[in-house]
Amino acid sequence: MFSLYIAAQGSCMSTLLLDGKAVSLATEKKLAQRVADLQARSGRTPILATLLVGDDPASATYVRMKGEACRRVGMASLPITLPASTSTAQLLAQIAELNANPDVQGILLQHPVPAQIDERACFDAIDAGKDVDGVGCLGFGRMSMGLPAYGSATPQGIMHLLAAYELDLTGLHAVVVGRSPILGRPMAMMLLQADCTVTVCHSRTRDLARHLAGADLVVAAVGKPEFVKAAWIPDHAIVVDAGYHPGGIGDVELGPLKSRVRAYTPVPGGVGPMTIATLMQQTVIAAEQSFA
Ligand code: NAP
Repeated sequence: MFSLYIAAQGSCMSTLLLDGKAVSLATEKKLAQRVADLQARSGRTPILATLLVGDDPASATYVRMKGEACRRVGMASLPITLPASTSTAQLLAQIAELNANPDVQGILLQHPVPAQIDERACFDAIDAGKDVDGVGCLGFGRMSMGLPAYGSATPQGIMHLLAAYELDLTGLHAVVVGRSPILGRPMAMMLLQADCTVTVCHSRTRDLARHLAGADLVVAAVGKPEFVKAAWIPDHAIVVDAGYHPGGIGDVELGPLKSRVRAYTPVPGGVGPMTIATLMQQTVIAAEQSFA
């Protein structure tokens, strides 16, 4: 589908660039049509409520980008900003209000929230039918069992990206580095659902390089710039870098890999745009179900 091959210099193999920007643009184009159809049928515009707690500039940027994506596909966003001093009870009350609001089809609570807030309690308070960012335990459990659920947006976006390039994941040994609730952990379960054999590595893993040496697919979700070294990754691997750090570098030392691995996601322009496109897609699905 998105067969954008880059000829590898000095080698007989070629490396596939997994272009998240291109795939997300194509996804948004299809979503815009679905939103227009919904509006024509129902006379209503889908709304994604975005909850930002505190004044972290990176989080504010992510929320703004999600609002802009809503507008690109013809949806509306309802941005709600709460002070950094917000308590768990106050945030839960705000979520309850949005759950009860029939005009709102999706709710995004931007991670991370300030330390005094019980983030898990707030994620789990989001109505499962509006949990379009896929952060709740119920959705995670259902997804893990292969039942319909909104997947956590970043790993689900990665699955969409791999599917767009028609990469057959069956039987691959996937090594996921990171086990966070919204990224590494759901990623591992999605890859298991896709018939990979999955190894999950984390901060207590011994000899990470040994695990990566046997990988056919690597997903790096560590949150440390270029933490995963190129030398640890075999030539035949598909490399997905979920990290994003100032200066446009990811969690993988990508430079030396660009001409020798089977496929890789660039940073930026790989996983990031797919996260937002997936959030949009899941909001459209929620609206289609709600307006039906
Ligand atoms: P996180 O919550 O900080 O989790 C990091 C994970 O890495 C943890 O599971 C941790 O293990 C593991 N880890 C830390 N040090 C390690 C080490 N030395 N060896 C192996 N594993 C180690 O981060 P996150 O939210 O999952 O995010 C991960 C990355 O993805 C970040 O760069 C973030 O910016 C990026 N991200 C991108 C998007 C996007 O849309 N593109 C969305 C979300 C996140 P323990 O569990 O043992 O502590």
